[in-house]
Amino acid sequence: MRTLPTATRRLLETSYTFSSVTPHLKRVADRGQTAKYLFKLRDGKTIETVVMHYDATQRSRARTTICVSSQVGCPIGCSFCATGQSGFDRNLSEAEIVDQFLMASRDLGEGQRSLTNVVFMGMGEPMNNYAAVVGAIRRWARADTLNFSPRRVTVSTIGLVPFIERLTAEGLPVNLAISLHAPDDELRSRMIPVNRKYPIAAITGAARAHAERTGRRISYEYVLLQGVNDSVEQANRLAKIVNHGLSHVNLIPMNPIEGSPLAPPSKSRAQAFQAVLQTAGISTTIRATRGLDIDAACGQLRARQLQSAPSPA
Ligand code: SF4
Repeated sequence: MRTLPTATRRLLETSYTFSSVTPHLKRVADRGQTAKYLFKLRDGKTIETVVMHYDATQRSRARTTICVSSQVGCPIGCSFCATGQSGFDRNLSEAEIVDQFLMASRDLGEGQRSLTNVVFMGMGEPMNNYAAVVGAIRRWARADTLNFSPRRVTVSTIGLVPFIERLTAEGLPVNLAISLHAPDDELRSRMIPVNRKYPIAAITGAARAHAERTGRRISYEYVLLQGVNDSVEQANRLAKIVNHGLSHVNLIPMNPIEGSPLAPPSKSRAQAFQAVLQTAGISTTIRATRGLDIDAACGQLRARQLQSAPSPA
């Protein structure tokens, strides 16, 4: 803005900022279909954001999904998650959530594909940062900003029941994804400690109420861990839990984490698990793993960057 006086420009420079996130690292994989960003925040902390392109199929249009973070680290501590293992730092502000979308959009470039869907499946438990997450969704939706419909937003939660109920009461037509990962409370409490407070029956009850109020389908996320939760018997138990009209199961073979004894099952074992659910009439997909060569699982790129960064003096 060279038409403004120098003093005014200087004042603007010191008083305002155009983005609360700055690109720090970018990794591209899957022949350009997946890009993972490490964004730096103003206090020097880093967060991950992933953009994934999907080509059109017979059943769906081409889409570009952005996976955003809601917290720096995560306090939930799931045993199979790199973010959970690296601890919790702080909540993101509404601006830091909004700006992940804007910065990634800008990087897509003019005339390229634009973002069609948002999933809150990056670092953090979105319901633990409820006000900022809902604030960001409402801001994206405003006619004078992006006009991005909440129907294209998915909020994923480990199952913090009071916040699911609050979201339902809000009447915001977002999609809800429940990270279930186990078909019984005993196993789930070992994998996800907060299950002791909010057991499976309470979570699925709240999820159903959300589906009934919004008409949106509930997606149950189930990370497949070899020898832990991937048997046919466990698939049968899962089928009984999620067998209500508006439900879909996403099976996710685990992205291996360095140093972890946990591993994904074989393809045939994952397919046998899926077959049980489909036979029970439940819509089920096995999610294609993306970006294995760029540490695409939540928290892995940041964990690697933290390991390699020089320790503070
Ligand atoms: S899986 Fe989600 S809720 Fe669990 S530790 Fe990782 S980021 Fe947190």
